[in-house]
Amino acid sequence: MNLIILIGAPGSGKGTQSQLMSNSLDYPVICIGDIVRQEMNSKTELGKEMIRYIETGDLVPSDLINKIFLNKFNSLRSSKGLILDGFPRTVDQAVFLNEVINGLNIRLNIFFIDVPDEVLIKRLTYRSRADDKEEIIINRLNTYNLETKPLLTFYKHLLNTVNGNDTEKNVQSKLIACIN
Ligand code: AMP
Repeated sequence: MNLIILIGAPGSGKGTQSQLMSNSLDYPVICIGDIVRQEMNSKTELGKEMIRYIETGDLVPSDLINKIFLNKFNSLRSSKGLILDGFPRTVDQAVFLNEVINGLNIRLNIFFIDVPDEVLIKRLTYRSRADDKEEIIINRLNTYNLETKPLLTFYKHLLNTVNGNDTEKNVQSKLIACIN
């Protein structure tokens, strides 16, 4: 399986790029943020447990997220490729992912979509999701800097950095060109 991981700050275009890549490669996407929002909107027990984290812009605890990921991953195990949007988002999730894929025949493609902070803030301010209010945006960016950025060091030998401060189409072409 070709496993494609997209790492990037909120507003970096991960979601859009995952969808474009999914369309052109015909690989499914596991988007943890979407699953989290679905659980919240359907008011499941899990959704109720996660709501307070999303509302403040904090990450949901990894034990819950790892379970969600594993279920979804297991259901897509036979796919020839898979795109991960928003997982892993912490080093402990990356360690968990390594355990999950250990011994499986997997080719890893890990991308960092690099976008300057001021561009991220501008993009997030123009988006209209419930967790895009100013103080929540600031907390989500801080959370990203503290908890997700260390992944860049964790994956440094595998990381492809792509400049995300460009048109959707150009970013997509660069990503596709780097896949092996
Ligand atoms: P996203 O749509 O990817 O920005 O995700 C929305 C929210 O879902 C985040 O702000 C987190 O609260 C939660 N979330 C998504 N992915 C993860 C993850 N891998 N670990 C923890 N929380 C997550």
